[in-house]
Amino acid sequence: MVKLITTSCLVPTALFLLTATIAAVSCTSQPTSRAFTMEPIGWVHKNEGTTWIEIDRRFEDALLGLEDFSHVWVFWWFDRNDTPGQRRILQVHPRGDADNPLTGVFATRAPVRPNLIALTCCRIISIEQNRIAIANIDALDGTPVVDLKPYLPMLDEVENVRLPAWIHRTGQASRPAEMAPPSSQAITLTIVYDNNQHHPGLETAWGFACIVAGLEETILFDTGGDGRILLNNMQKMGIEPEQIDCVVLSHQHGDHTGGLSALLDRNNKVTIYAPASFPDKIKQAIKRSAAQLIEVKGPQAVCRGARSTGQMGRAIQEQALAIDTNSGTVIVTGCAHPGVVRMVRQVQLAGDSTLALVVGGFHLGSASDPELTSIIQDFKEMGVERAGPCHCSGERARQRFKEAFLENYVSVGVGSQLSFEHPTRENR
Ligand SMILES: [Zn+2]
Ligand SMILES: [Zn+2]
Repeated sequence: MVKLITTSCLVPTALFLLTATIAAVSCTSQPTSRAFTMEPIGWVHKNEGTTWIEIDRRFEDALLGLEDFSHVWVFWWFDRNDTPGQRRILQVHPRGDADNPLTGVFATRAPVRPNLIALTCCRIISIEQNRIAIANIDALDGTPVVDLKPYLPMLDEVENVRLPAWIHRTGQASRPAEMAPPSSQAITLTIVYDNNQHHPGLETAWGFACIVAGLEETILFDTGGDGRILLNNMQKMGIEPEQIDCVVLSHQHGDHTGGLSALLDRNNKVTIYAPASFPDKIKQAIKRSAAQLIEVKGPQAVCRGARSTGQMGRAIQEQALAIDTNSGTVIVTGCAHPGVVRMVRQVQLAGDSTLALVVGGFHLGSASDPELTSIIQDFKEMGVERAGPCHCSGERARQRFKEAFLENYVSVGVGSQLSFEHPTRENR
């Protein structure tokens, strides 16, 4: 069995010894077992919104040329899970969701396995001496790093990928603690702030915030009304503020922007996409935080696979987010003040023919029954496949959508997690 001896993973000079015994191939001339040792080449560090890998000075020369690459595969050790018990687990329900089929750990990225190796593709920000600043990593501060390899699209990106069905499931884990952190295997939408409950362990409050992970950038769409609640809910779902690359603010209302300053206190390395019509007060506060502000006027990309509708409406200008998935486009709205149908139509006019899901605030709390009938009719005519009204949609509207969409109604509240497959090359 594999045995790990480590004095302290947090001290860069500490020796980290991995002794493994590996069954040899059935060749009598080979030894029946082989032991080897491995030591960390560096450590992950996270502090005040900055994430970096500190390479052991003895290995600094091995970094030569890495600065010419945009991304690096970081192989790290799940040291917090390094117990004999965790190493003995060979099968799990992926993402901690009991509804996902029991699966061997070699067919998952679970943080339990005989050798606790994890890998993350990280965007390199800069390399200075033995310090690699990276955009983010789903590893904790002090995590040992065992190897680095450059990301090479011609080797690392493959075509005609086959995936098991559980990857595509719109899974909802049974407890927040069991939720998968944003993984590179799928595009996930995680509702981290809403006035509707989905997971009893999370706090509800008036407002909306949703994290889109699995794209080249991790996006926080809106920030809810209260930074403490936002960060607490994110923490309970295993999402660190440092993982956020971009913040898209739908509109200026406090229940969508109130959590921003608390987020910026933890991570000001984000790019913020806000409607250009935002009040100067909010724009100035963003600029003072040193975060990058992009004032959105027309439709524009946020990253590959995600784009803004551009600011819409008159009184309260608002943008929605459109995300490409293998099932079609997923549209996320904050309050949909310009009208949810108008916002969906805007996405469709931009050339998105298949509308997989519209999720978020639909702002239909005061809509009359005939208005709701007409809106649902419009959704059907536009070919919206599934609907997940939450936040300010109104109870009656939620009920009407539920009756109209039946099994394609998505009950959304704080803690909901929706997963989608990446678009294939043909429908990218
Ligand atoms: Zn709102
Ligand atoms: Zn609003």
